[in-house]
Amino acid sequence: MSHHLVQIEHLGIAVKDLEAGNALYTKLLGVPPYKEEVVESEGVRTSFFKAGPNKIELLEATNPESPIAKFIEKRGEGIHHVAYAVEDIAAEMDRLKREGFRLLNDAPKAGADNKWVCFLHPKDAGGTLIELCQERS
Ligand code: ZN
Repeated sequence: MSHHLVQIEHLGIAVKDLEAGNALYTKLLGVPPYKEEVVESEGVRTSFFKAGPNKIELLEATNPESPIAKFIEKRGEGIHHVAYAVEDIAAEMDRLKREGFRLLNDAPKAGADNKWVCFLHPKDAGGTLIELCQERS
Protein backbone atom coordinates (compact mmCIF):
# COMPACT_ATOMS: atom_id res chain seq x y z
CA MET A 1 0.00 0.00 0.00
CA SER A 2 1.59 3.29 -1.05
CA HIS A 3 1.02 6.47 0.88
CA HIS A 4 1.06 9.01 -1.86
CA LEU A 5 -1.06 10.03 -4.80
CA VAL A 6 -0.68 7.26 -7.35
CA GLN A 7 -1.61 8.91 -10.65
CA ILE A 8 -4.00 11.40 -12.17
CA GLU A 9 -7.26 9.47 -12.32
CA HIS A 10 -9.18 12.03 -14.37
CA LEU A 11 -9.66 15.71 -15.10
CA GLY A 12 -13.04 17.21 -14.26
CA ILE A 13 -14.36 19.85 -16.64
CA ALA A 14 -17.37 22.04 -15.82
CA VAL A 15 -19.82 22.57 -18.66
CA LYS A 16 -23.08 24.52 -18.88
CA ASP A 17 -24.74 21.94 -21.09
CA LEU A 18 -23.76 18.28 -20.98
CA GLU A 19 -25.19 17.49 -24.44
CA ALA A 20 -23.11 20.29 -25.98
CA GLY A 21 -20.06 19.21 -23.95
CA ASN A 22 -20.52 15.61 -25.06
CA ALA A 23 -20.74 16.68 -28.71
CA LEU A 24 -17.60 18.82 -28.39
CA TYR A 25 -15.54 16.15 -26.64
CA THR A 26 -16.74 13.43 -29.02
CA LYS A 27 -15.42 15.58 -31.87
CA LEU A 28 -12.20 16.41 -29.99
CA LEU A 29 -11.31 12.93 -28.76
CA GLY A 30 -12.85 10.95 -31.62
CA VAL A 31 -14.82 8.72 -29.24
CA PRO A 32 -18.22 9.15 -27.55
CA PRO A 33 -18.63 9.11 -23.75
CA TYR A 34 -18.61 5.59 -22.33
CA LYS A 35 -20.80 6.44 -19.38
CA GLU A 36 -23.23 9.05 -18.06
CA GLU A 37 -24.22 9.27 -14.43
CA VAL A 38 -26.19 11.59 -12.15
CA VAL A 39 -24.80 12.11 -8.64
CA GLU A 40 -27.80 13.78 -7.04
CA SER A 41 -26.04 14.31 -3.68
CA GLU A 42 -23.44 16.46 -5.49
CA GLY A 43 -25.93 18.18 -7.79
CA VAL A 44 -24.13 16.99 -10.93
CA ARG A 45 -24.73 15.10 -14.11
CA THR A 46 -21.51 13.64 -15.44
CA SER A 47 -20.18 11.92 -18.52
CA PHE A 48 -16.88 10.09 -18.91
CA PHE A 49 -14.54 9.85 -21.88
CA LYS A 50 -11.37 7.88 -22.43
CA ALA A 51 -8.38 9.30 -24.23
CA GLY A 52 -6.01 6.35 -24.33
CA PRO A 53 -5.17 5.59 -20.69
CA ASN A 54 -6.58 8.93 -19.52
CA LYS A 55 -10.05 9.90 -18.41
CA ILE A 56 -12.02 13.11 -18.77
CA GLU A 57 -15.14 13.81 -16.70
CA LEU A 58 -17.61 16.46 -17.86
CA LEU A 59 -19.83 17.93 -15.14
CA GLU A 60 -23.12 19.79 -15.55
CA ALA A 61 -25.08 21.28 -12.64
CA THR A 62 -28.47 19.69 -11.94
CA ASN A 63 -29.66 22.69 -9.91
CA PRO A 64 -28.66 26.33 -9.30
CA GLU A 65 -27.19 25.48 -5.85
CA SER A 66 -24.82 22.90 -7.32
CA PRO A 67 -21.10 23.57 -6.77
CA ILE A 68 -20.75 23.32 -10.57
CA ALA A 69 -23.31 26.10 -11.12
CA LYS A 70 -21.43 28.29 -8.63
CA PHE A 71 -18.07 27.49 -10.23
CA ILE A 72 -19.33 28.42 -13.72
CA GLU A 73 -20.89 31.62 -12.38
CA LYS A 74 -17.52 32.68 -10.92
CA ARG A 75 -14.97 31.27 -13.33
CA GLY A 76 -16.82 30.15 -16.43
CA GLU A 77 -16.67 26.76 -18.09
CA GLY A 78 -13.38 24.86 -17.99
CA ILE A 79 -11.20 22.68 -15.80
CA HIS A 80 -12.92 22.27 -12.45
CA HIS A 81 -10.76 19.70 -10.63
CA VAL A 82 -7.83 17.34 -10.90
CA ALA A 83 -8.55 13.88 -9.49
CA TYR A 84 -5.78 11.64 -8.17
CA ALA A 85 -6.09 7.91 -7.61
CA VAL A 86 -5.14 6.70 -4.14
CA GLU A 87 -4.93 3.17 -2.74
CA ASP A 88 -6.12 3.98 0.77
CA ILE A 89 -8.29 7.09 0.80
CA ALA A 90 -8.67 7.22 4.60
CA ALA A 91 -4.89 7.07 5.09
CA GLU A 92 -4.32 9.76 2.43
CA MET A 93 -6.98 11.99 4.02
CA ASP A 94 -5.14 11.67 7.36
CA ARG A 95 -1.78 12.34 5.77
CA LEU A 96 -2.97 15.42 3.88
CA LYS A 97 -4.79 16.77 6.93
CA ARG A 98 -1.51 16.50 8.86
CA GLU A 99 0.19 18.35 5.98
CA GLY A 100 -2.24 21.22 6.54
CA PHE A 101 -4.72 20.69 3.72
CA ARG A 102 -8.36 21.35 4.55
CA LEU A 103 -10.67 18.50 3.49
CA LEU A 104 -14.10 19.42 2.15
CA ASN A 105 -15.56 16.19 3.53
CA ASP A 106 -14.61 14.45 6.77
CA ALA A 107 -15.31 10.95 5.52
CA PRO A 108 -14.93 9.47 2.04
CA LYS A 109 -18.17 9.80 0.09
CA ALA A 110 -19.65 7.90 -2.82
CA GLY A 111 -18.74 9.68 -6.05
CA ALA A 112 -19.37 9.01 -9.73
CA ASP A 113 -17.86 6.07 -11.59
CA ASN A 114 -17.86 3.72 -8.60
CA LYS A 115 -15.38 5.71 -6.51
CA TRP A 116 -14.90 6.81 -2.94
CA VAL A 117 -13.96 10.47 -3.12
CA CYS A 118 -12.74 13.35 -0.99
CA PHE A 119 -12.08 16.93 -2.06
CA LEU A 120 -9.35 19.26 -0.80
CA HIS A 121 -9.90 22.99 -0.45
CA PRO A 122 -8.61 24.75 -3.59
CA LYS A 123 -7.15 27.59 -1.49
CA ASP A 124 -4.70 25.11 0.07
CA ALA A 125 -3.70 23.68 -3.31
CA GLY A 126 -2.72 26.77 -5.27
CA GLY A 127 -6.20 27.48 -6.60
CA THR A 128 -6.98 24.01 -7.95
CA LEU A 129 -9.72 21.83 -6.50
CA ILE A 130 -8.18 18.40 -5.80
CA GLU A 131 -10.18 15.18 -5.69
CA LEU A 132 -8.85 11.97 -4.18
CA CYS A 133 -10.49 8.81 -5.43
CA GLN A 134 -10.35 5.17 -4.65
CA GLU A 135 -12.18 2.38 -6.47
CA ARG A 136 -15.26 1.21 -4.51
CA SER A 137 -15.15 -2.54 -4.21
ZN1 ZN B 1 -14.03 13.97 -10.56
